[in-house]
Amino acid sequence: MTNRKYLPILLSFFLSYPAFSQTPKVNPDRLHESLMKLSTFGKNAAGGSDRVAYSSYDLHAREYVQGLMKEAGLDVSIDFAGNIIGRKAGKNPNLKPIAFGSHIDEVPNGGDYDGPVGSMGAIEVVRTFSENNITTDHPLEVIIFANEEGGVVGSRALAGALSEDALQVVSNSGVTQYDGIKLLGGNPERIPELKRNPGDLAAYLELHIEQGGILDAEKLDIGVVEGIVAIEWWEFTFAGKANHAGTTPMNKRNDPMLPAAQFVLAVNEIVNSYEGRQVGTVGKIQAFPGAGNVIPGEVKVNVELRDLSSEKIWKIYADIEARGKQLALESQTELAIKHIEVASKPALADPEIRKVIQAQAEKLGYGTKSLPSGAGHDAQEMARIAPMGMIFIPSKDGISHAPAEYSSKADIANGANVLLHTILELDKLLK
Ligand SMILES: [Zn+2]
Repeated sequence: MTNRKYLPILLSFFLSYPAFSQTPKVNPDRLHESLMKLSTFGKNAAGGSDRVAYSSYDLHAREYVQGLMKEAGLDVSIDFAGNIIGRKAGKNPNLKPIAFGSHIDEVPNGGDYDGPVGSMGAIEVVRTFSENNITTDHPLEVIIFANEEGGVVGSRALAGALSEDALQVVSNSGVTQYDGIKLLGGNPERIPELKRNPGDLAAYLELHIEQGGILDAEKLDIGVVEGIVAIEWWEFTFAGKANHAGTTPMNKRNDPMLPAAQFVLAVNEIVNSYEGRQVGTVGKIQAFPGAGNVIPGEVKVNVELRDLSSEKIWKIYADIEARGKQLALESQTELAIKHIEVASKPALADPEIRKVIQAQAEKLGYGTKSLPSGAGHDAQEMARIAPMGMIFIPSKDGISHAPAEYSSKADIANGANVLLHTILELDKLLK
């Protein structure tokens, strides 16, 4: 029975049902244009971005972003931590929201892509849904987090992990987090009310630049993030005897620089002796008193280890500690070791979400690789309260947090398409 009267209804049904419409794709030009416009807020003479959180650049950029979110059909509000939240109702109000987003603040003299790609990508996905008349079953929530670069402040607030002390820390723009959040329209006093509990969100997804050179070097399109690594820091202090560099004979010295120098090499050797993608770095050494004509009395060496497994980090550390003690013994210096609290636990991506990201990227014809994130992200905080997934796109030459940070228009669009299809697939899978 074909009745003309029903034709428009039937047609709109088929068009609104994703399986019957063509594979929806984001608009690469529109997405890129929004990124370029965003990059004008805080652009400095060196070509970098000074859009640090709470600065006037940040405030103006947030106005621009809120406008885009409204245009995309999102219901926009600012939460107590200053996060910009954009909500779109789903067909089934009983389902928990699928959340996705990133940040738009930068480090001083930073780039244009770390944060903005995931933020503009998230908004472009919602625009594409609207254009294609796609309404998901789950409500959608786009989150543009407050002050990511100054301590993952907004996401930590949502995870209920932002301490009162942290609010008194002075951020990159020179104001405390407390005052900065007020500038964003938040209310720092009421942040505890923001805490979301596990189960409050169906999932959290974040598109981000890799900030490493792996995808770029291997000419791959998409990184399926395994998780965000844990970071541990230690300070090793070798103590000997400070003395005159000219009058103390070589055989009468108790020079802590010697075991410290051997120790630096040992850290590298030990970290390399393990299979896997762990990294270990000595990025800071200090000699005291630190004068060219004085044998140092004390040398401090900072050791940093990163890996997806805390257990592995501590296993490697045990070897490093043993070697340090041995070097101190052999050189007759004293060794003191201090573990420095950086409070960064590993945050693993949800295995099911990883599979979905992988499958959707393959379906779209993109080359993929699973890899850990060596840098911290809002996603690490969100992983405390929701199943988390992260999508990486290539960073040219692995450069980030610098004006030369760059990802191509095509790579950005690919990442946004994977985000879009991951949301659609999770919308079907998660009930
Ligand atoms: Zn970032």
